[in-house]
Amino acid sequence: MSQYQELKQACYAANMQLPQLGLVLFTFGNASVVDREKGVFAIKPSGVPYATLRPEDIVIMSLGGKIVEGDKRPSSDTKTHAVLFNHWDHIGGIVHTHSTYATAWAQAQLDIPLLGTTHADHLTADIPCAPPMSDAMIAGDYEHQTGWQILNEFQRRGLSPREAEMVLLSNHAPFTWGSTVEKAVYNSAVLEEIARMAYLSSTLRPGVPRLKDALIQKHYDRKHGANSYYGQS
Ligand SMILES: [Zn+2]
Repeated sequence: MSQYQELKQACYAANMQLPQLGLVLFTFGNASVVDREKGVFAIKPSGVPYATLRPEDIVIMSLGGKIVEGDKRPSSDTKTHAVLFNHWDHIGGIVHTHSTYATAWAQAQLDIPLLGTTHADHLTADIPCAPPMSDAMIAGDYEHQTGWQILNEFQRRGLSPREAEMVLLSNHAPFTWGSTVEKAVYNSAVLEEIARMAYLSSTLRPGVPRLKDALIQKHYDRKHGANSYYGQS
């Protein structure tokens, strides 16, 4: 039996949640899980529909980008996942989808403004939309450069990937991450819901003001602050 059996199963389960949550159609999207002790990550194979995906189809990659185990080609977005795993060593899983509302904001090249407490429960920043990639980045090692576009945008904004566990890529779609792949999947679903709410609010009332600072801090802190009191202790 493969020493990566559990890792493959975790990756398979995370990928299968994406269609169940209505976040992907057909072969769109991919989830990955890292095992830092072994120096590998598991990722969905390229172009395999969720309906026929099996745990043994999951591909094991080294963090250096080589196939370690698997007879399928890995997701075409594998290099983007590798760049993020290699630079943000606290993350355990990554999810990429083309979920409709989040992708609509990405295609409009807009940050998702913080308009309500649902958003503030998860992060105090607007959800960043990284700018369109340059022609040189696109012509180069595209998926590798896509990872760098995300890293550079967080750097430019002084934004922590521990607080903001989600990003939009202009003209493309979202990526989310988390300490575990389950958290990354959760973040993908939360992002889609926030994107839908923000779209509806800004359509009902163009120019709707951002949530006021006192409410942003209140909602974030009651869930994530030093004296958080949301949920059961
Ligand atoms: Zn994509």
